[in-house]
Amino acid sequence: MTGKKTFAIGIDLGATTIKSGVVDKKGKIIDQLTVETRANKGPSTVIQHIVFSVRELFSKHKQASCCGIGIGAPGVVRIEDGSVHHPPNFSGWTEVALAKAIRNAFSVPVFIENDANCAALAEAKYGAGYEFKDFLFVVWGTGIGGGIILDRKIYRGPHGGAGEIGHLSIDYNGRECNCGSRGCIEAYIGQRYLSQRTKEILEGRRKDQEPSKIIELVDGNLEKIEPSIIAEAAELDDPVATEILEEAGDLLGSALASVMNILDLRVAVIGGGISAAPHFVFKSVEKSLRARVLKPHKNGIRIVRAKLGNSAGIIGAASLVF
Ligand SMILES: [Zn+2]
Repeated sequence: MTGKKTFAIGIDLGATTIKSGVVDKKGKIIDQLTVETRANKGPSTVIQHIVFSVRELFSKHKQASCCGIGIGAPGVVRIEDGSVHHPPNFSGWTEVALAKAIRNAFSVPVFIENDANCAALAEAKYGAGYEFKDFLFVVWGTGIGGGIILDRKIYRGPHGGAGEIGHLSIDYNGRECNCGSRGCIEAYIGQRYLSQRTKEILEGRRKDQEPSKIIELVDGNLEKIEPSIIAEAAELDDPVATEILEEAGDLLGSALASVMNILDLRVAVIGGGISAAPHFVFKSVEKSLRARVLKPHKNGIRIVRAKLGNSAGIIGAASLVF
């Protein structure tokens, strides 16, 4: 064999975009590319788009120097055969042998893992989780996802579906969730609900009240509200945004208390779109968590902001290879 294998390709497969990157052994992204997923066109189109992305990267970075390809995919991933089951928002996709399809295209080792687990691994190896042996990773974005890191490894559970903290119920008679259950934390602090609740509060405000910064940020179109906008407004000390995020933090803390009690964990690293939120949101989660967790668990409770942002998916996927 000539030359050293120096990099891996990490692929972050999302319902809207496929982000792929060339990542070195220190977890640094050297080059990257984003293409549309076209998840509505079915699995073969999605596979073609992944193959296209990898070919593009191999046109600039020699395949001979590539250790392998790692893929982070939504849905339940079966590690044994590299298949992906029922990823949400992917049409016609029940069970697809994704790792095999990519391996056939490139003849390099291919590894696959659930996307939230990939982000958790990235934070554990290169990010905010590096200093902790055990922690819970929370993805707070469109939905609420999670990954459990125990002894620096991901805990998948016997069937590969562990870490679904978004469906931990905080009210057994509460709001209906997409999953069919009630009171799931995701139905209170997921993107759609947070945006909806903000819109309702803004619509209910009196004309003589000071205009909210949120309205300015969306140019008056309340349909454009999303958590990153709420976070931006909170950064500007907007009282509506601050109230919403403080309350959301309080709710998340109450859900995390149950997780910490069950898993005997002390630290949660929070990533996803909301991880750009101001410091007070993290304080609010921590305060609520500390108030509710069992006494023997209180010592060492910490809520930490994820460090790798949007890159965690690519870096975590590539780290499956090394
Ligand atoms: Zn649910």
